[in-house]
Amino acid sequence: MENIVIIGSGIAGLTAAIYNARAGLKPLVVSGKDEGGQLMLTTAVENFPCFPEGINGPEMISKARGQAKKFGARFADGNVSKVEKKGNGFAVETEDGKVEGKAVIIATGASAKTLGMESEKKYWARGVHTCAVCDGYFYNGKEVVVVGGGDSAMEESLFLAKHATKVTIIHRRDKFRASKIMQDRVKANTKIKILWNSTVEDVLGDGKKVTSVKIKNVKNNGSSKMKTDAVFLAIGHIPNTKFLGNLVELDKQGFIKATNTHTNVPGIFAAGDCVDKIYRQAVMAAGDGCRAAIEAEKYLETS
Ligand code: NAP
Repeated sequence: MENIVIIGSGIAGLTAAIYNARAGLKPLVVSGKDEGGQLMLTTAVENFPCFPEGINGPEMISKARGQAKKFGARFADGNVSKVEKKGNGFAVETEDGKVEGKAVIIATGASAKTLGMESEKKYWARGVHTCAVCDGYFYNGKEVVVVGGGDSAMEESLFLAKHATKVTIIHRRDKFRASKIMQDRVKANTKIKILWNSTVEDVLGDGKKVTSVKIKNVKNNGSSKMKTDAVFLAIGHIPNTKFLGNLVELDKQGFIKATNTHTNVPGIFAAGDCVDKIYRQAVMAAGDGCRAAIEAEKYLETS
């Protein structure tokens, strides 16, 4: 039986692996189908301490993976389909078979929801983004669009307004779902305009970068085009926790409920974006991975 099975190979899982491996526990990391997590989809990460010139998301993941391997972490491919309690530990089922661990760290992250258009994929990270704190800086002095009407859309818009000359929120209804305080801040910001009852039908560009969006007014079906340098999608995230079934307690959106990385099941820890729906930052996920590793280590010593 393994000491610790870490599910997920984003920055949370890899940080946990570095800590557990350095403690001599030889953790097994089950990488998942989207190996490396959301950082694999970003270009320059400019807000992770120690990289003043920025670092590419995939390069960061590759370095963290190498660092974990150097200390003795091992990696298995494949997606986890099920985790269940077995004796004093847990059975983790993948497409390739079963592994067993005395403790499990879940670091499966979350995926940003997208609108499902081909053009989103075409201009992904070249004008289509899902994180203003990560990529907003690139739009200094430019015009951007934010899609959504929840707290994330408000937060993203307020952040983007510090950089962009104009931010247009495009929302499908005539009311925001966001908290009143966030709505008030948005409405008080003169750089932010709101386009109600509208959806983005297509993202248009010159082949290299985004230049405009095609908009539909859902009330009168009217169609229009708006010039923009970027589209930030803020329509929610889906935590990658479906495979857990009822094993650990989840909130109504599927995020894992954890206190100091402990789930409600002793021996199962959770870290990163599968828990955190507020900050969703690489540095937070890394910190959480460290915490889960230390808590799992303590659990092994005392159980
Ligand atoms: P959310 O509350 O689920 O809001 C998603 C928004 O996107 C909604 O306005 C929704 O429209 C819209 N949307 C969803 N699918 C869409 C589609 N296919 N096309 C167009 N629009 C679409 O998600 P969130 O804003 O990411 O927030 C998630 C949770 O984190 C919430 O509980 C939120 O309060 C919390 N949060 C808190 C803070 C904070 O306190 N500072 C910051 C960020 C997030 P409808 O309104 O029409 O459904």
